[in-house]
Amino acid sequence: MSEIKTYPVNDYFSERALLNEDQYKAMYQASIDDPEAFWAEHGKRIDWMKPYSKIKDVSYAHDDVHIKWFYDGTLNPTVSCLDRHLEIKGDQTAIIWEGDDPTQDAKVTYRELYHKVCRLANALKARGIKKGDVVTIYMPMVVEAAVAMLACARIGAIHSVIFGGFSPESIAGRVEDCQSNCIITADEGVRGGKTIPLKNNVDEALSKPGAATVKTVVVYERTKGDIEWTEGRDVWYHEITEAASDDCPAEEMSAEDPLFILYTSGSTGKPKGVMHTCGGYLVYASMTHEYIFDYQEGDIYWCTADVGWITGHSYIVYGPLANGAVTLMFEGVPNYPDVSRCWQVVDKHQVNVFYTAPTAIRALMQAGDEPVKSTSRKSLRLLGTVGEPINPEAWEWYYHVVGEEHCTIVDTWWQTETGGVLITPLPGATPVKPGSATRPFFGVQPAIVDNEGNLLDGVCEGNLVMKDSWPGQMRTVYGDHQRFIETYFSTYKGYYFSGDGARRDEDNYYWITGRVDDVLNVSGHRMGTAEVESALVAHPATSEAAVVGYPHDIKGQGIYAYVTLKKGHEETDELIQELKDFVRSEIGGIAVPDIIQWAPAVPKTRSGKIMRRILRKIACNELENMGDTSTLADPSVVDKLIENRAHQ
Ligand code: ATP
Ligand code: MG
Repeated sequence: MSEIKTYPVNDYFSERALLNEDQYKAMYQASIDDPEAFWAEHGKRIDWMKPYSKIKDVSYAHDDVHIKWFYDGTLNPTVSCLDRHLEIKGDQTAIIWEGDDPTQDAKVTYRELYHKVCRLANALKARGIKKGDVVTIYMPMVVEAAVAMLACARIGAIHSVIFGGFSPESIAGRVEDCQSNCIITADEGVRGGKTIPLKNNVDEALSKPGAATVKTVVVYERTKGDIEWTEGRDVWYHEITEAASDDCPAEEMSAEDPLFILYTSGSTGKPKGVMHTCGGYLVYASMTHEYIFDYQEGDIYWCTADVGWITGHSYIVYGPLANGAVTLMFEGVPNYPDVSRCWQVVDKHQVNVFYTAPTAIRALMQAGDEPVKSTSRKSLRLLGTVGEPINPEAWEWYYHVVGEEHCTIVDTWWQTETGGVLITPLPGATPVKPGSATRPFFGVQPAIVDNEGNLLDGVCEGNLVMKDSWPGQMRTVYGDHQRFIETYFSTYKGYYFSGDGARRDEDNYYWITGRVDDVLNVSGHRMGTAEVESALVAHPATSEAAVVGYPHDIKGQGIYAYVTLKKGHEETDELIQELKDFVRSEIGGIAVPDIIQWAPAVPKTRSGKIMRRILRKIACNELENMGDTSTLADPSVVDKLIENRAHQ
């Protein structure tokens, strides 16, 4: 196997970082030795109306799962994100908005944001929306999407953001699941030079019987495109907010009142309505944001996620705003008008911290170095990644080409369920190894168990679990606590089970090997899909690879690889053989794919993750029932793969 390099903490972060390695270790130890004392202290980083005296009440016991933090305290999360900044930072930029069209941008100060939020909050109240109601947000990446989230939080309504790429069926299903009574949307969205018919999609969703609970549709005017109008139900965002007062008292919420519901991306099955609450979530989102991105006054911070994902919730809206940061919201896509766009935006707004997903990095890498090198990127200090295991090949490209070796990389492992990052380097404290998420954040106690649930020690590989709770942990699956228990607390008794596999190395670093459902078992050897994929992608001809297991008479399981080639390479039998030989030299004979199928593209969720459960079905020739495909970005990819499958 190719040698693993370690990159030490760089000079920039050695000098300025909030924490060095010794400080991290001491603080981490304190967080584990006495979690109550640790969180009692750090809970104070946000503003409370009534301070908490009770810190933690958690049980992972199978028959009584409950999770509570700071639970006798009261607060309103928007006070920490807005009100408390007004005096000193009222005129500082809170949000930099960069439009899909490079000539469009805007800056919104904390004071302006506060008034926008209050206006919408009052307007929602006037429409009868109240504490505990569920408001669906189906918006493009405009400032008003963040405003909508915060306006809900202001009045104690629970928001449920649905990514603007989802279909009417997906909207209807989610609205029905959480009995939402209001939708905030826009006439159209704009992405990559194309418009997306958001309001039309909402209309279609609401024509379905399950969605009858919705009584109000608030429409933000983004494009002035043609839309239908339902009198009495539909109202213009600008009309109702113009009429509203720009001050709105913040509803007093219990720490454990719901803040939002967010449906998971559906890589593994039917999306789950993950519920987060007001107190612990905000403490955790803001603390992780500060330490992981080493956020300090004056930094310009850009997370490229959509607010429709948890990454957008925690690291575009709640975390950065609670910290009084400057957060950039980007309406567009990385390859429009051209593949240099991200770096042009970095230069234009002098971005210091850039946080994106491996799928974007791989796509940009495929376009070559030139579009990167044509920009300066001098302002960049820190690069982040989240969403899938990042293969070392892509990591190195990110480090050498994008960061020009002076930026540190944080590979952050977490989930919708965890509210914030659990395993990650800290820029001033952690020497990094490409492909490893490294070490736990404060208060986080990862462990690895075997399939029987036995704790493994030292260097090992198995199922990644958490031994105890952290404040940002989800509290339940909305309306289905039993599903919560069954999904996360039944497989390994007494632990939170992440569903992911991991390896721990001799430095106690964690390496996420992928979802355990995807783990390969070839002739008794267990292997993460990520490992084989990384080897395939390390070959100069490949741009992407997805690997799954399929039944094999002799080995138990065989390895089936889908490979997408870079432009200019041909799909030949010789190349298949070359790739097999390459994997043999990188990992060993055991990891050599039995079958390699060329794939013009692999099926991905709308958040850009490879959907292996579908690839597994194709590999196994189970072509009848593909399961829930509503979260696929481009369903036609599946048909192409099925067609090609026939030729294997
Ligand atoms: P669903 O739960 O509906 O199948 P999902 O798991 O894709 O959807 P998310 O909560 O958005 O929904 O993604 C979390 C998952 O993403 C993790 O469980 C892990 O598999 C993967 N992941 C996230 N960050 C990393 C990372 N840095 N390294 C490796 N894997 C990661
Ligand atoms: Mg998941």
